[in-house]
Amino acid sequence: MTGHSERAHALLSASGSKRWLACTPSARAEGIFMQELEAQGIKEPESPFAEEGTQAHEYSEIILDRELGVITKAQATRRINKFKKEKQYYGPEMEEMVEVYTDFVMERVNAARLETPDALVLIEQRLDFSQWVPNGFGTGDVLLVRDGVLEIIDLKYGKGVAVDAYENPQMKLYALGAITAHDVLYDIQEVHMTIVQPRLDSISTFEMSAEDLYKWANDEVKPKAEMADTGDGDYVPGEHCRFCKIKSTCRARADEALETAKAEFADDGTIDVNTPEPATLTPEELAEILFVVDDIEKWCKDIKAYALDQALSGTTYEGFKLVEGRSNRAITNEPEAVKRLLEKGGVTEDDLYAPRKLESITNLEKKVGKKVFAEILDGVIVKPPGKPVLVTEDDKRPAIQSAESAASDFAEDLLD
Ligand code: SF4
Repeated sequence: MTGHSERAHALLSASGSKRWLACTPSARAEGIFMQELEAQGIKEPESPFAEEGTQAHEYSEIILDRELGVITKAQATRRINKFKKEKQYYGPEMEEMVEVYTDFVMERVNAARLETPDALVLIEQRLDFSQWVPNGFGTGDVLLVRDGVLEIIDLKYGKGVAVDAYENPQMKLYALGAITAHDVLYDIQEVHMTIVQPRLDSISTFEMSAEDLYKWANDEVKPKAEMADTGDGDYVPGEHCRFCKIKSTCRARADEALETAKAEFADDGTIDVNTPEPATLTPEELAEILFVVDDIEKWCKDIKAYALDQALSGTTYEGFKLVEGRSNRAITNEPEAVKRLLEKGGVTEDDLYAPRKLESITNLEKKVGKKVFAEILDGVIVKPPGKPVLVTEDDKRPAIQSAESAASDFAEDLLD
């Protein structure tokens, strides 16, 4: 078993595999960047979301150990009480979300045992896939091995980014580690990979044959991992840049953003030179620009945030200076201010305080728990239609049928 908070990080981590498989030099470049930060005495700030996820994994491990009979009920109760007392992120929401996950796991365990009575159930297993990825290892949350089938289940506690099991390289690498360890005894033919993301109400499963998994590992992973390990290959910007540590200063990403902007705004030669170019962009030209505008916007934001950070640490940029931003006045001594206002301001206490405001729905739900919240507030919560947004056609949401009615609904909402 590996400690949740001690999950070590390899250069070519499974969680970063989508990135280093697409952009092989990124892993080494990130490593160099981190070394430079370390040399300057700058530590990467700990993420509260990572800590919250770690605690959710710890809690689910206690529950699964109890359900699987690894520990007695009395031992589990002691561990749960200790956990509740010590862990800052424990609350009704964590309890409920972990229950969704552990219920799913136990369902799968029972199904596996029905088919293979001595099915193997492993929790928090270190998985070694170094046969394909130098020093490659990871930790699988749940591993179920029955005759011919390997199942891997992973808990994703975050809710900021939806993670799907479909062709997910992290899950496939874990599956490789698991299959290597258990293939001999169970003759694994099929691999089922499931990601449970309870806070987004999402459970997704991707299935593939062991043969295809090995083919992917040998044909794609191995050569790319070798390149990534030595820092070879081309920098390839894309959606995977999102969590790259050098995304703000990456030259390839900057080049692509600037090139794309230039290309999209330049005349592509399709306009007839004899016809005067219209002063305004056509819907077709706007559509072309819309395709790339999000990426350019993200890059601009990253650049601005990084440059500000560096400027605050002493870097100067020619033509730029640091100034104080806009700020709001603040009362430093509230009781004294209230006293003076009441005595000399000609107002009453009612005039001084804003009316009490209900917490946000998200916060209330967190305090009460999702299930209870839905039960007790049934009928007093509505979800009005969202403000229309323009997205690419592959978006899963259904298209609004009538643009006219969407516009008038939205206008009515604004008037309400
Ligand atoms: S920002 Fe993108 S292109 Fe640049 S190294 Fe990272 S993953 Fe590669």
